[in-house]
Amino acid sequence: MALVSMTEMLKTAKAEGYAVGQYNINNLEFIPAFLRAAEEEEAPIIIAASDRLVDFLGGFKNIAGMVKTLHEEVETTVPVVLHLDHGQSVERCRQAVEAGFTSVMIDGSHHPIEENIAMTKKVVAFAHAAGCSVEAEVGTVGGQEDGMVGGVTYADVNECEMLVKETNVDALAAALGSVHGPYQGEPKLGFKEMEEIAERTQIPLVLHGGTGIPEYQIQRAIKLGHAKINVNTESIQAWTNSVRDVLANDESVYEPRLILKPAIEAVVQTVKEKEREFGTSGKAKGAVNS
Ligand SMILES: [Zn+2]
Repeated sequence: MALVSMTEMLKTAKAEGYAVGQYNINNLEFIPAFLRAAEEEEAPIIIAASDRLVDFLGGFKNIAGMVKTLHEEVETTVPVVLHLDHGQSVERCRQAVEAGFTSVMIDGSHHPIEENIAMTKKVVAFAHAAGCSVEAEVGTVGGQEDGMVGGVTYADVNECEMLVKETNVDALAAALGSVHGPYQGEPKLGFKEMEEIAERTQIPLVLHGGTGIPEYQIQRAIKLGHAKINVNTESIQAWTNSVRDVLANDESVYEPRLILKPAIEAVVQTVKEKEREFGTSGKAKGAVNS
């Protein structure tokens, strides 16, 4: 199966009451780890590159080329989306679509809502024409976003409704208390606002900062319309802990393959756990019709 957009995948997930995980590529070895985890769990998967890491990962074309080629090489059977996370401008989203990404997020959340809507509309026009899906954001996810560290700004319900109606986006990240990176204390998600936003927009919602949110809150967010949950911190912590252990336990090891193999395995296990938690496991078959 070729790479797909997330439009149909998220509609199905929302209708059936589960969420598809988005897992971010932090170095190129993460790609086979994600594909293996999805295949082993028979789960649809969204593999993402965060805009701020695109250059580090060798650029849009390199990322798209690797995901496409590897996906064929390992004979992936589950539906896979290649998504740009936190696209910083209309132009960056265009580059991603042209390179072969099948989905993009345009993050206009740091701009006034009118500007956010205008940017999102432009992206929707060329992305939909190319068969790609679009995610937009309203409000501010706490912690590190686009390389800046800041507090949480809750999404305004009216702004969410306006943006969705005017832009025809496929998914909305409405920031409601979630944080990128580790949480200080238990997260306080705005469930009341969440319910209202889901009701008024009727589109699949996206939960950023999925690491560290207790499972009962995750389940509640899924019930209230979240069909996509972004996980990054947990995979990179698993990766780094493994590398640290290997190096600390064996001072003679110097071969990258020996150092990285357990780290790749740690990422696979982390993703599989999330797929089970989000209810994505076993859903590959009915996720998209095409
Ligand atoms: Zn995010």
